[in-house]
Amino acid sequence: MSDLYHLLMRLSDINKEYDIIIAGGGVTGAGIFYEAVQKGYRVLLLEAKDYAWGTSSRSSKMVHGGLRYLKQGKFLLTKTAVKERERLLKQYPGLVMPLKFIMPVFGHYGPSKASMKIGLSIYSFMAREKQHESFSRSEVIKKIPGIRQKNLISAVGFKDAQVDDARLVLRLIFEGCFLGGTALNYTKVIGIQRNRKGRLAAVSAMDEESLSSVEIKTKVLINATGASAEALHPFPMKKSHIRPLRGSHLIFPKSIFPLDRVISFIHPKDLRPVFLFPWEGSILLGTTDVDHDQDMKMEPFVTMKEADYLMEGLKHILPDFDLSLNDCISSIAGVRPVLSKKKKEASRESREHVVYKDKGLITVTGGKLTTFRRLANDALKAAKPYLPKPVSTNFKEKITAQPVDEISHQIPKGIEKRLSGRYGALGYEIIRQYDEELFCPIENTKSLWVEIPYAAEHENIGHLSDLLLRRVRVGLLLPKGGINLLDRIETLCRPYLSWDNKKWDKEKKAYIKLWKTCYGPPRKKEP
Ligand SMILES: Cc1cc2nc3c(=O)[nH]c(=O)nc-3n(C[C@H](O)[C@H](O)[C@H](O)COP(=O)(O)OP(=O)(O)OC[C@H]3O[C@@H](n4cnc5c(N)ncnc54)[C@H](O)[C@@H]3O)c2cc1C
Repeated sequence: MSDLYHLLMRLSDINKEYDIIIAGGGVTGAGIFYEAVQKGYRVLLLEAKDYAWGTSSRSSKMVHGGLRYLKQGKFLLTKTAVKERERLLKQYPGLVMPLKFIMPVFGHYGPSKASMKIGLSIYSFMAREKQHESFSRSEVIKKIPGIRQKNLISAVGFKDAQVDDARLVLRLIFEGCFLGGTALNYTKVIGIQRNRKGRLAAVSAMDEESLSSVEIKTKVLINATGASAEALHPFPMKKSHIRPLRGSHLIFPKSIFPLDRVISFIHPKDLRPVFLFPWEGSILLGTTDVDHDQDMKMEPFVTMKEADYLMEGLKHILPDFDLSLNDCISSIAGVRPVLSKKKKEASRESREHVVYKDKGLITVTGGKLTTFRRLANDALKAAKPYLPKPVSTNFKEKITAQPVDEISHQIPKGIEKRLSGRYGALGYEIIRQYDEELFCPIENTKSLWVEIPYAAEHENIGHLSDLLLRRVRVGLLLPKGGINLLDRIETLCRPYLSWDNKKWDKEKKAYIKLWKTCYGPPRKKEP
């Protein structure tokens, strides 16, 4: 178990030479980290802010083939994603969970029933199993109370999957650390050094808290910094650049509209697909697709214009449903890194990933959360010519949990599955050592109180927002970001975080300010 304490190191403690350094602790960097450690390389991952701080905690949480890519003729992308979805469902039960979709078909706009059926047959064929069904008009009206009945013809249903995106990133990073990799959050890659032949030789990294910096030798730097990728490595073709596109979600309490599946519908304004979906005991509505003109160094926020667009779409599909922006409890925005050759309509830009390289500096950006492993393998393939032979390893047994003695309490099966999905076998065994009374939900969310002290003790919390927005997601799922719970959270974390009264006070104030600015319901006046 002591290997877990890799996680609590800082920049000054680590080795100063690696085979691979990865810049970026989103799902792309985390996936590369896990795969590279498994292959036996000496790997260091550096994240400028918190793990999953970027787009990877702000997605629509879908592990999906992407039906709309099929419509665009991207068969290979869809096929790869469907294959990855099936693999992730098997590999991470309790974290990646099956999810049903229903898509109403209207006579006056949107895809026809025939075209949907063709698309879904291909989708099922790719999954090697019939995963779609049809609903008559009366069945749709029963399944979606309040749905627009004018021009409603029928609906199609299909299966995909859902994940807690931030927890997927954290699991990849922490398991990679357990297997021998090193990862640091709040450590930014600020420069690279090359040798006389022009090959990458070292990386400069800065501790974002102390502002001290060090040089670390490496054969390869993999730049997985998402929408910021061009800051470290400009795209080689002058006319192509990363176009940051913002996608936003509004979050509502489940009590206002209990949903057991995603309602996928076409927005009447621009004919883009929009989703109303259940997640972690709440309901999310999203997403938008607009040029991101906010400061890239700050956390993105949902604008009033985006909120109005989403509410307009919802009102169109559910006209009899009494829901307004006043019911929204929180919001979240993320930035898609999309490589753009020439400006076209945002939603028509390609979502495929790109890999480009320059003598040991490999950049991988774009793509999807679902296909992170494909991105990882492509990046490592590009890095291979610069890498030494990895040491041979057999990690399969190491990652399997060891039985822990002295556990007196029993945990219900559902909770057991959820915890082992979110933390892996190892983390789950440690969690079981906390007091039985902590195994109860935080208010009406699915998060458990026990996850709070566990994260404080083992998961490299730099700020209160890391804990409430990414280790657990209660900052998104509870009204006012769960501000009323901060005192109990402090009591539970105190034994594990070396924060004095002044630091706690500062952290609470900073969290409340951040929540109001970037995660609260969108307000008339933008921050
Ligand atoms: C609204 C929205 C919805 C989406 N929905 C889905 C979905 O449902 N399913 C799906 O499969 N995909 C989805 N995607 C796509 C998916 O979320 C992204 O492709 C994926 O999260 C990108 O991960 P990343 O690791 O490349 O980037 P990021 O998650 O942004 O990670 C990059 C990291 O690099 C760090 N960084 C930046 N500069 C430095 C530096 N100099 N040194 C060190 N670190 C640095 C940043 O702090 C950041 O944490 C969605 C995207 C958006 C925007």
